[in-house]
Amino acid sequence: LFISFEGVDGVGKTTQVERLRGWLEARGHTVVVTREPGGTALGRAIRKLLLHGVAEEPSNAASVSAAPGGSADSASVPADIAPRAEALLFAADRAQHVAETIRPALERGEVVITDRYLDSSLAYQAGGRELTAAEIRNLSMWATNNLLPDRTYLLDMDPALSHNRLQHAEDRMESAGDDFQNRTRQAFLDLAAAEPDRFRVIDASQSIEQVWQAIRQDIDALLKE
Ligand code: C5P
Ligand code: MG
Repeated sequence: LFISFEGVDGVGKTTQVERLRGWLEARGHTVVVTREPGGTALGRAIRKLLLHGVAEEPSNAASVSAAPGGSADSASVPADIAPRAEALLFAADRAQHVAETIRPALERGEVVITDRYLDSSLAYQAGGRELTAAEIRNLSMWATNNLLPDRTYLLDMDPALSHNRLQHAEDRMESAGDDFQNRTRQAFLDLAAAEPDRFRVIDASQSIEQVWQAIRQDIDALLKE
């Protein structure tokens, strides 16, 4: 059984992933909890590039030997990542994630719960930016050799509210503007509407307990199918 959680930043995906893990383990399932980007060692290296940009290599020996703590000479310069390069980096993360973590666990008969999967790419790299959903979907289906979740929980709420839950923007993605967050939210809702069998949309402005009860009822029914 392969389950993904999706939604904009700060909606509580991580909290619900942990609730679901505990509930499934209590029922005797072996559960693998993972995330994107960064579910593997390669993925963590890619995540750093994606979230914090690229530091220029020191240009000469003098800056290499600069004192730890840094000087003007060794200051790093964040570089912009082109949309296609960014999409490929997310796809590379996902390809490794599926090959190394997700498929082997599913083949062992375990439950895999991932905090984000291809719908995040569809919502963020296509919905929010300049690439088309078809391009991103084809890329992701190639990267994963066509692996889709059995169930996707979309935790939905107004990004203006979810953003308040975040202490501060952690990275270059989370500091993107409100317009971008709103377009991303709508992109997630459109994806859910297009695949009602796979998706369950849950109102994430409810309490943690209410959100969890909605998930629990659904997973209970799904396991009985
Ligand atoms: O959920 P998490 O905080 O790990 O995601 C890291 C950042 O990457 C988030 O700000 C999210 O908006 C962004 N992201 C993205 N495209 C993806 C997955 C995550 O832009 N496919
Ligand atoms: Mg985050």
